[in-house]
Amino acid sequence: MSMKRQSLDVDIVCVGFGPAMGGFLSTLARDPDPNLQVVCCERAGDIGFGVSGAVTRARGIRQTFPDLDPSAIPMAAPVSHERIAYLLDPIGASRRSPTLRAADRVLRLLHLPRHHAFELPFIPSFLRKDGGMLLSVGQFMQWTGEQAMSTGAVQIWPGVPVSEALLEDQRVVGVRLLDQGTDRAGVPASGFMPGMDLRAALTVVGDGPVGAVGRQLDAVFGLPAGHHQHEWAVGAKMVVDLPEAVDLDPGTVFHTFGFPEPEIFGFFYVHPGHVASVGIFVPSWFNNPARTSYRYLQHYILHPYLWRYLNGATLRSWGAKSLQEAGKHGEPFLAGDGYARIGECSGSTNVLTGSGVDEAWTTGIQLAEAVKELRAAGKPFTKPNLEATYTARRRASWVEREGRVAEKARDGFHHGVVIGLLGMALAGATNGRLSIAGEPKLIPTLEEYYRHKLTTAEIEEVRHQCYSRGVAMHDALMERCGWPAIPFDGQLLMSQQDALLIGGKVQAPDGYADHVTFLYPDFCERCSAKLCIEMCSGQALTPGPQGVPLFDRDKCVFCGACIWNCRQSLDDDPVRTNIAFRAGAGGLHSNEN
Ligand SMILES: Cc1cc2nc3c(=O)[nH]c(=O)nc-3n(C[C@H](O)[C@H](O)[C@H](O)COP(=O)(O)OP(=O)(O)OC[C@H]3O[C@@H](n4cnc5c(N)ncnc54)[C@H](O)[C@@H]3O)c2cc1C
Ligand code: SF4
Ligand code: SF4
Repeated sequence: MSMKRQSLDVDIVCVGFGPAMGGFLSTLARDPDPNLQVVCCERAGDIGFGVSGAVTRARGIRQTFPDLDPSAIPMAAPVSHERIAYLLDPIGASRRSPTLRAADRVLRLLHLPRHHAFELPFIPSFLRKDGGMLLSVGQFMQWTGEQAMSTGAVQIWPGVPVSEALLEDQRVVGVRLLDQGTDRAGVPASGFMPGMDLRAALTVVGDGPVGAVGRQLDAVFGLPAGHHQHEWAVGAKMVVDLPEAVDLDPGTVFHTFGFPEPEIFGFFYVHPGHVASVGIFVPSWFNNPARTSYRYLQHYILHPYLWRYLNGATLRSWGAKSLQEAGKHGEPFLAGDGYARIGECSGSTNVLTGSGVDEAWTTGIQLAEAVKELRAAGKPFTKPNLEATYTARRRASWVEREGRVAEKARDGFHHGVVIGLLGMALAGATNGRLSIAGEPKLIPTLEEYYRHKLTTAEIEEVRHQCYSRGVAMHDALMERCGWPAIPFDGQLLMSQQDALLIGGKVQAPDGYADHVTFLYPDFCERCSAKLCIEMCSGQALTPGPQGVPLFDRDKCVFCGACIWNCRQSLDDDPVRTNIAFRAGAGGLHSNEN
């Protein structure tokens, strides 16, 4: 069964083709260097399978494409109208603090809400995206990738997951691709082919918020003193065809907060051709241990403020993905000997403005400029050389400046939504000089979270009923707490399983090891919380025999949230949990998200 591992030498090998790598490769491709061989490995089955909002100021993108005409990119439009709305709870099921309830009463007494929503009379300048663009990240990446590859300067290989970085004496010397032809446990089977080694003078890591290579480098090199990556969110979205009668202009942007739970932020963006993206962010400081983003997204859509446009809409696709919300708090070492990190895996996402696309793209431009400078000077890709060129450019740029303003902007949310919003406003208004401090707290158990609504015996009854059917408890728990059942219409509102078949299009090729595994199954046997099941974005984790969850790769949308969806931290490394989320193949097949 042993087959020799192949090895290939290139000049630069890149991990992940997201917006960060788009900026990097596009900048290299604008001024092609015939003596530079650049290969980019993307794990998804196509170069346009990313998930994002996305509304962006597009400053970095316009730096790369100064004459950019949004109409050249499918689903893109200039931002035309922006609104921010506070959504009240029309059902009475969300968990609102006494302060928020009082504020809701005052708003209603003054007859200010329309469609159970109060539109803010102004948009704070730090949140405005005027002059910006609305994109489908999938379509944009496809367009970008085609532009870059057409120059012949770079190669992008979709469907090629990188397993790990190759390290020699603390120097990164390339990457190893994932083994193929294994069983689900990674044991070689028929057709086994060990993952090839791609050796390179520079390895560029842009594998996003939960990439295996970025996390490997964090484990090897650690994070700079005082940095942590405890803040995260799951973003879930749908792309829909709007009913013909809806007359919203392309480029219309709504941002919302307050519903389905006060902690959940939402967005509604109108693309050309009567298509819209609608989605929510479920942040780590929302402490519900049964946080099902798919179900919450359906309640969001049904809110009267949005339903007036979405009633009669049809689902085209959906997706979910993690966001690394620690921002600059979570910044790793940006460069080392033989490697550099760009984009969200390098802490570029701005947690105050909720934007990551343009920031990621710009860090890619900065690295490409540094590469050109070092090549022109005949200097190698060492840590000091990369720091003097790439890190220095980044420190002098708007990404750094705005990242610093945002750094502590959301810490107040650890004390609750109202204090969190005040902290955000304070940080935004004072350019980050003032903020409200706060520390992440452990997610409570179901019994702790639901103590005012359900008894321990009721929770146990729900657990027994659901687990004996092999399903998660979140739907049943929500319905017991007053959330109405979703009125499935088979068109926009449907079960998660139907959505996976219709709009999610998950593919899970055989011959690869499972990318989600449980490190210590005995922890799972003793675990009553089973957060991993209750929080899974794709219903890919379900109750299993002896208490160890089952993982179904055919349902996994690769959101990566499960690395945080476990309450059991490891004794030898309290930052890691009992779930390993490794590099893997497959996931969502949709280039509209
Ligand atoms: C629902 C949602 C809405 C959002 N809305 C907005 C918005 O409106 N505006 C905004 O600016 N930002 C938004 N963001 C954030 C934005 O999408 C990210 O900040 C941005 O995509 C980060 O770009 P990146 O290139 O660093 O990483 P990513 O976009 O995560 O790209 C990383 C790439 O690496 C690949 N990869 C990972 N591991 C491997 C591996 N082992 N081998 C090979 N390839 C690998 C992944 O498949 C992926 O394609 C949103 C995010 C979500 C989830
Ligand atoms: S992975 Fe974590 S949350 Fe899930 S069953 Fe195991 S110990 Fe519990
Ligand atoms: S199992 Fe898949 S879908 Fe579920 S949380 Fe993990 S990555 Fe997301």
